Amino acid sequence: MNGAQSRADTNHEAAKMTAQICDLCEFTPMPASEIRVQSAAASVTPSGVEDVLPILDLQSDVYFMGQALREAHKAYAAGEVPVGAVIVHDGRIIARAWNQVETLKDATAHAEMLALTAAQAVVGDWRLEQCTLYVTKEPCPMCAGAVVHCRPQRLVFGCPDPKCGAAGSWINLLDSNPPLNHRCDVLPGVLGDQCLELLRQFFREARERKNAD
Ligand SMILES: [Zn+2]
Repeated sequence: MNGAQSRADTNHEAAKMTAQICDLCEFTPMPASEIRVQSAAASVTPSGVEDVLPILDLQSDVYFMGQALREAHKAYAAGEVPVGAVIVHDGRIIARAWNQVETLKDATAHAEMLALTAAQAVVGDWRLEQCTLYVTKEPCPMCAGAVVHCRPQRLVFGCPDPKCGAAGSWINLLDSNPPLNHRCDVLPGVLGDQCLELLRQFFREARERKNAD
C-alpha cells in the first residue's frame, strides 16, 4: 500500500467514524469557490473599465481567525468539539468564546452564541452592526439565526460544514432572506485547512478512545 492510498484509507475511516460520533461533524473539505461570497464591491473607473475594489483586509482576517483558532484550541483542551469565535469592533477584539456545550451542559453554548452574548454586553446593545464575527467553522442554523438577530456586518468563517452549514453550504440564512431582514457579508475559508484539521484531530482521537474501550 502506498502512502497516498494509506492516507486515503485513513481519511475514509476517519470520516466514517466521525459520522458515527456526531452528525454535526461529518466534515469534508469544500472548495471555498463553491460558496457564494458577498465580499467585494464593483465600480467603474473613469476609463470605463470595471474595477473590483477589495473591501476586506485579508491580513486582518487571517490574524483574527488565528485568534478564533486559539479559542478553538481551548475547546479542544477541555474535551469540547473544537470551535472558537471572536468578535471584532473597530479593529479590536471585544469578545472571545469557545464551544462549551459539554462544560455548561447547554446545547446552545456554541462558540458563536457565547461570543455574540458577550459582545452585546460590551457594546451595551443587542445590535452588533459594526462588528465582524470570526468563527472557525461555518455556523449551524441556530448560530446563523442568532447572527440574523444580532446583525453583525460581516461573518468570516474557517472551514465549511457541508452537512449543516447555514451560511451557504447546506442552506443560507444570511443572504437577505426577506422574512429575516438581514444580510450579512460572508467570507468563508480563512485558515480553513487549520480549522478543519483541528476538528478532524479531535474526532480521530475520540474514535481511538472509543475503540480502546
Ligand atoms: Zn452553532
